[in-house]
Amino acid sequence: MATRRQTFRLYPNQSQQRQLFKARRLHQYIYNACLAGRKHAWETDRKNLKYFDQQNKLPQFKKDNPEFAVLGSQALQATVKRVDSAFQAFFKGLRKHPKFKSLRNYSGWTYPGSAGWKVYTNGKHGKVELRDLGLSIRMRGKAKQWGDPTTLTIVYRPSSYQWYASFTVEVATVEAKYDSTSDLKYESIIAYDLGTSTALTTYDGSEYVELTNPRFLRNKEQEVKRKSKQMRRKIAPNRKKKTKPSNRWKKASKTVSRLQRKVSNQRQDWQHKVTSDIASRYDIGVTEELRVRNMTRKAKKGSKRKKQKAGLNKSILDVGMSTLNKMIGYKIEAKGGLLLVLDTKKVKPSQRCPNCGKVHKHWASLSGRYHICDACGFEIARDKGSALVMYQVAINKQPGDGTALVDVDAVSSTCKKRSRKDTGSLKQLQQKKRSKLSKSSPEDRVFETPSYAVRRGSSC
Ligand SMILES: [Zn+2]
Repeated sequence: MATRRQTFRLYPNQSQQRQLFKARRLHQYIYNACLAGRKHAWETDRKNLKYFDQQNKLPQFKKDNPEFAVLGSQALQATVKRVDSAFQAFFKGLRKHPKFKSLRNYSGWTYPGSAGWKVYTNGKHGKVELRDLGLSIRMRGKAKQWGDPTTLTIVYRPSSYQWYASFTVEVATVEAKYDSTSDLKYESIIAYDLGTSTALTTYDGSEYVELTNPRFLRNKEQEVKRKSKQMRRKIAPNRKKKTKPSNRWKKASKTVSRLQRKVSNQRQDWQHKVTSDIASRYDIGVTEELRVRNMTRKAKKGSKRKKQKAGLNKSILDVGMSTLNKMIGYKIEAKGGLLLVLDTKKVKPSQRCPNCGKVHKHWASLSGRYHICDACGFEIARDKGSALVMYQVAINKQPGDGTALVDVDAVSSTCKKRSRKDTGSLKQLQQKKRSKLSKSSPEDRVFETPSYAVRRGSSC
């Protein structure tokens, strides 16, 4: 079984909307109250409140504040947990100190288990019942794969005034066709190089396919810029001066956000089309590790190539390289295939000559995109060369030292061993609590991986 996230748009009527807004406000209040409680405990007693310290106060709190009684207890716990997670991330140095959230920045709430809600759908449209609020809301949308829904998150997007229901769903997975990398079939292998000039260069043993970067964002950017400027000229809300936004500002901001949404939808659509096509035709994907974060890092201070780097970053983000990579991975795995991720440092696909295996720090090239090997005279376009090297590594035909598939630490994503550790999810916490109460198992027992940690297939 694997876990997928599926999102539907909600269509609440007027009175339902009022109730949703009210629930969101109450959850936001709880969030800020928990944050304040932790802050206070630290400032007065230097004490770090734990999740259970706060969770255990919920029943009494509900009694004292009857307006909160409408909210489901599990949903409330999940909100308390959000604060805890924010602090855990802060303690680990991953995030800044959690801040109080304004209503505008508060997206919604979660039902972490099956209690308090029910969904009626077969994957296309349907309705969702929020039992704690007594609502039955119409929803529209189509899930790629539908199965057993496990959690539900209600999300509000203020920029578009839209509500969404986001489910995690347990879906059936196909058994992996390949146990080891030794029995790969040549004809079903595709090697792909994610680049910036060409978004995706693939090689499947017979032909290269180059997909150019669709510059949705670039084209629309001017328009977004122009509209944003129009928006800035209008009267924006200012809390300090207590001014409300003008109607013209509201209208303009709606236009801008609609435009931005359009760009992101176009990008997503393109990504799905491209990756579905690849995954439907091939069983094995071969690629290298991608470090988008390093690639999109800002240019060094005083660097003369600042503008170029910014442009490069924009096109990397424009295509959404890591999203493409993930999509190809999970789509191939969904049909029992395999995604091989080669170690970039060992294979060096962009520096290695596909013909003789020589590693070039600097290629002799006609232009930046065309390589000529100074050892054997082999000529190839840069992105095609990388794809070819990766393909040859996958079929064990790449010349050069240490490029056999066994040597290059290829990680097949389907059989990667996932460390099952305590990630502090609500499910794990509840299990911990239960095990503590029953005292049947030692405290440091290994807990089940939470659903969100195994998004990419768990067929091993
Ligand atoms: Zn060569």
